[in-house]
Amino acid sequence: MRPTGRLHLGHLVGALTHWVTLQQQAECFYFVADWHALTSDFADTSQLTTYTYDNVADWIGVGLDPEKSTFFIQSLVPEHAELYLLLSMVVPVPWLERVPTYKEQQETLKEKDLSSIGFLGYPLLQTADVAMYDATLVPVGEDQVAHLELSREVVRRFNNCFGSVLVEPKPLLTKFARLPGLDGDKKMSKSLGNTILLSDTPEEVTKRVRQMYTDPKRIRADIPGTVEGNPVFTYHDAFNPNTEEVDDLKARYRAGKVGDVEVKTKLANALNAHLDPIRERRAAALARPGYLREILFEGSRRARIVAAETMTRVRDAMKISYP
Ligand code: AMP
Repeated sequence: MRPTGRLHLGHLVGALTHWVTLQQQAECFYFVADWHALTSDFADTSQLTTYTYDNVADWIGVGLDPEKSTFFIQSLVPEHAELYLLLSMVVPVPWLERVPTYKEQQETLKEKDLSSIGFLGYPLLQTADVAMYDATLVPVGEDQVAHLELSREVVRRFNNCFGSVLVEPKPLLTKFARLPGLDGDKKMSKSLGNTILLSDTPEEVTKRVRQMYTDPKRIRADIPGTVEGNPVFTYHDAFNPNTEEVDDLKARYRAGKVGDVEVKTKLANALNAHLDPIRERRAAALARPGYLREILFEGSRRARIVAAETMTRVRDAMKISYP
């Protein structure tokens, strides 16, 4: 997660819920990608530390446990930069220019200067992040799939040159790998301002749900509406555990027998019920002085031990270890 803002419902259903399940089944490393935040926000780093702690409070809020998983900060494990540099030697620039998000983001985020080497190298740094821990599975949202495809190619090329040193990673997607935005845009995203934050109050959530985009042709409650692709129903599917209620709302919506107010009020209630325990654990984590810093520094220390082993292996394979 990049500390470029507060975490939202897209992060929750696209990544975090998987993170929580995985921590019961596998050895997990979860990190705050502060260097990655700089790839698009280098000009203003004033909120980086605040967002780092805020994001990790959300992780704890959703049920991640620093005793079960390793939480760390990317820049506290500088081996990531070394691996990135060494990988950059074997990767042709056009491979990075071809990654779809490169051009897409430059077009979408016109107000930002995305012409840096850092931004071009984003998925290569990500490759280093993942390969450092011999990661087999990377639980991410759909927008990261192309990056991991590049990671696989990079690892193959590196291994072709230097032997079987690094492991090829695969993405692991949830059922809601791309949660739409409140405005009906295809993706909920910090930079598009179409989010509900995990840290929003119940009143804010209700207000944001009321503003949500629905079926535009339904100017009156008695006009039959479309459920498919309607973000209000996508959110019901993602967050409302009462499937009977959701099925009933869908049937009445299709028949023009329910108003938007009822559909949205039920969604806001379901969301707030889902977020309440998250809010409580998040607030408790933030209330403990020094707690989040301690977790992140201890996790970074543990991550660095693994990273040092990987780098010894990489340097040996590249014959730059000078025995
Ligand atoms: P980012 O905010 O770009 O650092 O994203 C952190 C993680 O959340 C990545 O794995 C993204 O793929 C995932 N993510 C972000 N937004 C969404 C969304 N709207 N739907 C699903 N996953 C998302």
